[in-house]
Amino acid sequence: MRQIAIVGSGPAGYYTAEAANKKWGDDVRVDVFDALPVPYGLIRSGVAPDHQSIKKVALRYEKTALSSNVRFVGNVSVGDDITVRELQELYDAVILATGAPNDRQLQLEGDQLDNVFGSAEFVGWYNGHPKFADLNPDLSGKHAVVIGMGNVALDVARILAKTSAEMRGSDIVAHAFEALHTSNLETITILGRRGPHQIMMTPKELGELLQLQRAAPSVDHADLPPPADDTNLEPGLRKSVELLRKFADLPEESHAKTAITIDFRFFAGPKAFYGKDGRVTQVECERMNVVDGRPVGTGELFRLPADLVISCIGYRASPLGDVPFDQRAGRFDSVDGRISPGLYCVGWAKRGPTGTIGTNRPDGYNVMELVAEDMTSGSHKRGREGFDELASERGLEIVTFSDWQKIEGAEVAAARSGAPREKFVDIASMIAAKS
Ligand code: NAP
Repeated sequence: MRQIAIVGSGPAGYYTAEAANKKWGDDVRVDVFDALPVPYGLIRSGVAPDHQSIKKVALRYEKTALSSNVRFVGNVSVGDDITVRELQELYDAVILATGAPNDRQLQLEGDQLDNVFGSAEFVGWYNGHPKFADLNPDLSGKHAVVIGMGNVALDVARILAKTSAEMRGSDIVAHAFEALHTSNLETITILGRRGPHQIMMTPKELGELLQLQRAAPSVDHADLPPPADDTNLEPGLRKSVELLRKFADLPEESHAKTAITIDFRFFAGPKAFYGKDGRVTQVECERMNVVDGRPVGTGELFRLPADLVISCIGYRASPLGDVPFDQRAGRFDSVDGRISPGLYCVGWAKRGPTGTIGTNRPDGYNVMELVAEDMTSGSHKRGREGFDELASERGLEIVTFSDWQKIEGAEVAAARSGAPREKFVDIASMIAAKS
C-alpha cells in the first residue's frame, strides 16, 4: 500500500490525486489536505465569479474526491497544525500543491496608501476568501487603475465594469455584489509597462470587453504598431492584438453610450502612488520604451487620477518550514517537481503563476512518475491512520468531503435568485454549516 499526502485541494492537488488513482488504484491511499474547510482552491476563490463554465471543472475533481481511496482533509493547515516533516514521517510521498496565494509586490512609494490593493486581496474579496472578506474597498471614486496586462487584470476590470444584471448567474459574494452595485466609476485604466505586442491577455477574455452593457474599451491608435508587424505573432497573441485594433476603431458613440471607459494605457510604468488623508488619489507613471522586448524608462513622468488601484502583476507561493524555496522566483525549489525523494511540488507551487487550469493536469501525472521512480515498492508507513491519531491528539477538527457536501448544500440553498450559491465567507460559518 502506498500512502500519499497532497497539500492543497485546488486543480493541481486534485489532478495529482486523479493521477495517483489511475496509476495505483486500490494500492494507494491519498489524503488531500486544505487549510480551508472547503475544497478546490483557485476554482472557488480565484476564477472570476462570472466565469461559471470554467468552474464546472470542479465536477471532475469531485469524482476523484468521491473515489474510495481518496480523502479530503479540510480545515488542517500544514505548517501550523502539522509540519511537512511530520507528514513525511507518516506518508511515502508528500506533494505540495499549495499554489501561489500571495501578491507580488510593486514596492513603490505610496503603496501602503488606503485603496491600493493586490489582485490576490481584491479577487479574494469578491470571491469570498475568508482571509480577504473584510477588505472593504472604497468604490465611491470615479477612477480605478488596474496595473498589469494579464488575464487577472482583465478579470478585475470586467468585474468592476459589469452591472448587477450582468452579474446575475455569477457566484460573486453578497458583500461585493452590493458594493459594486453602488460604485461610481467612470474610468478603469489598465496600465501596461510594455506595448500591445507584449500583452498576456487571451482573445476570449479580451473579447468579453466588447459585450459589456455600461462600459466600452478604448485604445489609442498611436500606441499600436503597424499592422504588418502582427504577422509574426503567435496566433493567440495575434488575435488579441486584432481585438486591441478593434477597440481603437470603436466609434465615439460607443463611448458616448456607456458610463465607463476601460482605457488601455501602454508604455506606462507605475512609479509611485500619491494620496490625500491617507487614501490614494493619483498614480505616477513613467513613459517607457520597449528595447529588445524589455521596458526601459524614458524619464518622462505623468500622473493619472486613481481613487482605487489594483495591482495584478503576478503571485508568489508561501514558503513552508524548511522546504527549499526559490525566493527570487517565489516558488519551491525543485527539479521538475522533485524537491527531494519523497517530497514534491506541482502547479503554481512548482512553476510559478503561469498557464491555464488544464496545465496542472500534466503536472499531476508527471509527478506520479517521479513518485514511482523514488518508491519502487509499497512501504509500511502509517499514512492516514497515523495522521488521524495525531489529529485527535492535537484536537484538530477535520472537515471531510461529506462535511463539505453539507456546506455546499447550505450555500446552494442560500443563493440569491439566479445565482448558483451564496458562499460562506468565514471559517466559523463553514464549520457551523456542516453540523
Ligand atoms: P500574467 O499573465 O503574468 O500578467 C502579469 C502582468 O503584470 C504582465 O502584463 C506584466 O507585464 C505585468 N507586470 C509584472 N510586473 C510588473 C511591474 N513591476 N510593473 C508593471 N507591470 C508589471 O499574470 P496574471 O494576470 O496574474 O495571470 C496569472 C496566470 O493565470 C496566467 O497564466 C493567466 O493566463 C491565468 N489566468 C487565466 C484566466 C483565464 O483563462 N480566464 C483568468 C485569470 C488568470 P510584463 O509582461 O511587462 O512583465
